[in-house]
Amino acid sequence: RIPIYGDRATATSETKPLTWRLAHHDAVLDLATYESLRGFEALKIALNQSPDDTLNTIKEAVVKGRGGAGFPAGIKWSLMAPPDGGPRYLVCNADEMEPGTFKDRLLMERLPLQLIEGMLISAYAIGATAGYIFIRGEYILAAERLTAAIEELKANNLVGDNILGSDFSFDLHVHTGAGRYICGEETALINCLEGRRANPRTKPPFPQVAGAWGRPTVVNNVETLHNVSAIILHGSKWYQDLPKAKGVVETPGTKLFGCSGLVNDPGLWELPFGYTAREIIEDFAGGMQEGRTLKAWLPGGASTDFLTAEHLDTVVDFDTIQKAGSRMGTGLLMVVDEEQDMVPLVRNLEIFFQRESCGWCTPCRDGLPWGVKILTAINDGEGQIGDVEKLEGLTRDLWIGKTFCAHAPGAMEPLMSAIKYFRPEFDQKIAQAVGEDVIEAAANQ
Ligand code: NAD
Repeated sequence: RIPIYGDRATATSETKPLTWRLAHHDAVLDLATYESLRGFEALKIALNQSPDDTLNTIKEAVVKGRGGAGFPAGIKWSLMAPPDGGPRYLVCNADEMEPGTFKDRLLMERLPLQLIEGMLISAYAIGATAGYIFIRGEYILAAERLTAAIEELKANNLVGDNILGSDFSFDLHVHTGAGRYICGEETALINCLEGRRANPRTKPPFPQVAGAWGRPTVVNNVETLHNVSAIILHGSKWYQDLPKAKGVVETPGTKLFGCSGLVNDPGLWELPFGYTAREIIEDFAGGMQEGRTLKAWLPGGASTDFLTAEHLDTVVDFDTIQKAGSRMGTGLLMVVDEEQDMVPLVRNLEIFFQRESCGWCTPCRDGLPWGVKILTAINDGEGQIGDVEKLEGLTRDLWIGKTFCAHAPGAMEPLMSAIKYFRPEFDQKIAQAVGEDVIEAAANQ
């Protein structure tokens, strides 16, 4: 299904900084059209000020990273090691593989030049000499469009040496991955870019200090970089003051929110922060399909905790979703309806995480298949008393600090929350397998 953008006709650079260029175009792919829509105005502003001023504007705007973690881009940039005359890199993380997430794909397929302009400005701010767009292998159209856009920009002195006659030079390359979820972890991505196996590296050192080929590197998500040109065009105060839907929300700017599952109008919308999950599901996604009732929802990808109908009035923002017991992640909601059995659903998610583990650290390599084995047994009517407790133990053993990266803890979030909210579904399957009398005897022991 093709994503939609809400009130397209009235969108302006000031109201919908991410997607306004799509108000009257299905996609903006060539330089002439992009320039007719204020394209590269922001780059010219940036090149006429110092890199530090550019960096400070982004820092003051507070662009919380849109890959899922929300780490502010300006702070990330300012943690770059000081220049020493050697190469410095900017990497765009376009390895969008979070289940249920498709926002970066839209931005790259339809607005490739806006991403590149954001990268040029970002590279100028951090003193990067070369950049890579590390893109998921399956995003063939997006990779083609980005490659074609870079070629046109090279021919027009907008990528390469002495851009627009300035001292700033920047080479840009599209690098396709081979479709591995772990490549979205920034240090695994860097290893992969270098031609190594995509295992995460220890952090610290963070990539800003020792990244690609050991050199200072910033890795930013596509949507994060898409914000940059509008902020340079309109200023950090404008970004901070962008209207909120309502309520007190901590995150400036707009966001590509989305929704999938058995709703009437699954899609993607650039919205101000402040909408509740109920509003996104009912007002933008058209509500649940006829005869379906919402049972649970994932706020932003499979690596977040399930929330339930009781949490629907939570504003979808980094802080508020965290207070409700989950994470906003990518902000693309996945809706689960009442007819969906949670055990096979969670099992499917865990199979995904098991398959995508790089196998580098033992808890993740061995723990995730163990979880799948237990879930499969429960689902197949072969569950044992104590299986749920084993799964709960696993969620503790594969938690933050006990694994090399965030992959296994991310995998534990849906499992842990499914048990928390839907434990009777697990127990019922186990009771059917062992018999109610055995359960009763165990309870009386
Ligand atoms: P993280 O919180 O460790 O780091 C986020 C970013 O902030 C990184 O770039 C990191 O370098 C930087 N950072 C954090 N602390 C820092 C410090 N003290 N100094 C300097 N820089 C610092 O998160 P992560 O492991 O990179 O990513 C996990 C997130 O990725 C989750 O939120 C998940 O939702 C998301 N995710 C997204 C996708 C997708 O397809 N978009 C896929 C999988 C996971």
